[in-house]
Amino acid sequence: MLKGKNALVTGSTSGIGLGIARALAEQGCNVMLNGFGDTGEIERNRSLLAAEHGVTVAYCGADMTRPEEIAGLVAATVKELGSVDILVNNAGIQHTAPVEDFPPERWDAIIAINLSAAFHTTRHALPLMRKNGWGRIINTASVHGLVASVNKAAYVTAKHGLIGFTKVVALETAGTGITCNAICPGWVRTELVEPQIVARAEALGVDIEEGGRNMLAEKQPSRQFVTVEQLGEVAVFLCSPAANQITGVALPVDGGWTAQ
Ligand code: NAD
Repeated sequence: MLKGKNALVTGSTSGIGLGIARALAEQGCNVMLNGFGDTGEIERNRSLLAAEHGVTVAYCGADMTRPEEIAGLVAATVKELGSVDILVNNAGIQHTAPVEDFPPERWDAIIAINLSAAFHTTRHALPLMRKNGWGRIINTASVHGLVASVNKAAYVTAKHGLIGFTKVVALETAGTGITCNAICPGWVRTELVEPQIVARAEALGVDIEEGGRNMLAEKQPSRQFVTVEQLGEVAVFLCSPAANQITGVALPVDGGWTAQ
């Protein structure tokens, strides 16, 4: 379905971003990977994705806290793939602490990576999409873009902001063949969430699996983790012709979390 299209997925060396990159490649889309991690593992993922799906897969380790490196990431995508048709703003970090104990440098990093980076990638990618008369911008927000939880001031602020940004871009591009939407996952078992599961298990004096079940029971009525494969398929759907008129939405994929 996406043969010949070119996608830039930020934060795609693990977790949800890698799941979305894989789902797009399965549809014939070329992909630019981005994120941190073990060089050997990144190269293995890159070459495997390319070989399995017969698409071009490139990698750029640009740091999403640095606007000049973000500009370089978009330029590298154009150089390696030809253009940016699909932009997935997915890179994200977490830190949990009450507001009065929240380290200011963690606040700045979360706002930079989870929110401001999406502004910088989008402002560089939009002219390319406008030129082609087609584009998809998908922002990985969170249920925490819709509702709050304690001890997540920076994350909740960034994700609420990202949904606001999604709506503005949707309005500014309406009718141009470009759509901009946010996906709002509930708990997904990735590296970002694992420390929270460990902390919960330690606090309760239970094993990791029971810690995970306890977290789900508190927030996610399905009591099942969302998977990265499901989120990949949701991203593919948002790139499909069926979604041509879906723009500016914040789509929960959360097992009922925000229905409560
Ligand atoms: P993850 O830790 O597996 O992935 C985060 C990705 O971002 C990695 O590729 C990492 O290298 C990259 N990254 C981090 N800092 C970066 C930086 N400065 N520059 C470039 N890349 C950077 O976690 P994940 O759960 O897959 O998170 C992906 C997105 O999904 C995040 O935006 C997160 O907020 C969101 N999300 C996660 C969940 C969940 O339950 N896991 C729920 C809702 C939303």
